[in-house]
Amino acid sequence: MKGFAMLGLNKVGWIEKDKPVAGPLDAIVRPLAVSPCTSDVHTVYEGALGDIHDMILGHEAVGEVVEVGSLVKDFKPGDKVIVPAITPDHMDVFSQMGYHQHAEGMLGGWKFSASKDGVFGEYFHVNQADGNLALLPPEISIEDGTMLSDMVPTGFHGVDNAEVQFGETVAVIGIGPVGLMAVAGSNLRGAGRIFAVGSRQLCCDVAKSYGATDIINYKHGDISQQILEATKGKGVDKVIIAGGTVDTFGEALSIIRPAGIISNINYLGSGDYIKISREGWGLGMGHIKIVGGLMPGGRKNMEYLSNVLKYGKLDVSPLLTHKFNGFDHIEEALLLMKDKTADLIKPVVII
Ligand code: NDP
Ligand code: ZN
Repeated sequence: MKGFAMLGLNKVGWIEKDKPVAGPLDAIVRPLAVSPCTSDVHTVYEGALGDIHDMILGHEAVGEVVEVGSLVKDFKPGDKVIVPAITPDHMDVFSQMGYHQHAEGMLGGWKFSASKDGVFGEYFHVNQADGNLALLPPEISIEDGTMLSDMVPTGFHGVDNAEVQFGETVAVIGIGPVGLMAVAGSNLRGAGRIFAVGSRQLCCDVAKSYGATDIINYKHGDISQQILEATKGKGVDKVIIAGGTVDTFGEALSIIRPAGIISNINYLGSGDYIKISREGWGLGMGHIKIVGGLMPGGRKNMEYLSNVLKYGKLDVSPLLTHKFNGFDHIEEALLLMKDKTADLIKPVVII
């Protein structure tokens, strides 16, 4: 079969591989719609996971089951499924600790396009199908469904980890598709004032439509100064970081209130250290929590999040600014994600 792969650092292309084989608990799926992710860009062009060779990319897909192992109970060939980016081993002890993302080691639940071939192949392998797949409700289109693989769960995970409460003031730094879902999630959780930090006009407009009350352009000066001015020096209850660099934590610390939470969902593809300022962190005694999280995958999470779309609480279609038809357009879509043109939020490729 053919697949679109990372050939080495800064190198992508089509390769031939053997069709994957399903173990007794697994499924083989063919993609119906896929979307490239900024994480693919960090992996290929920043070498964030090392110099990987000949690994098929992609971890956001809706697909059709073509084959299941002998022990799979709830899925059969022909089923349309949401494929989460994170597909952990649910038998691992870490899964029982509540962090299946780290089953089999740090970030071990992230398999597609990290430790095994991803979803940009004619077929791909899903481990523990009953635990990792979810049926796509017929009310959700295949292209909207791809946003359930990663963008919705990641943005909402940022909100979960920030423990957003009714009426709170939240700053979402970075409003690409991930940050936009953090804005929408904060809004659903009842935040009062929501600062959205970005620069591209389209992302700012969509952020407003998802509930942002204030737009901050990080290119117009220091984020912290702008937010402190707007809040008369009070700062914010919560910060969700969905863009920027290792230095963004410094900005977040300057605006967070005592005992606030900084919730990072950004994939830090480069830079060696994150600097936490002694003063900003309350001389070490400010009760400020800094938490970073990989999105939760798993069937239950996909089923619950698909309800948010199915019952009209969230419309992900404004994210899908570029639609392609045909497998061969995957490269074009990935390059768009790398170059981030002004009119882009997220591309989707319908196979
Ligand atoms: P985008 O590149 O589309 O968005 C990044 C956002 O950050 C844009 O709004 C951009 O502004 C803004 N930004 C860039 N530089 C700065 C800066 N210096 N200060 C403040 N804001 C800045 O990325 P995505 O939304 O696709 O993804 C966001 C991150 O989430 C990525 O690192 C991705 O790899 C990661 N990710 C993490 C997952 C997880 O499980 N934790 C899962 C999926 C993705 P503008 O472009 O308008 O100038
Ligand atoms: Zn992703």
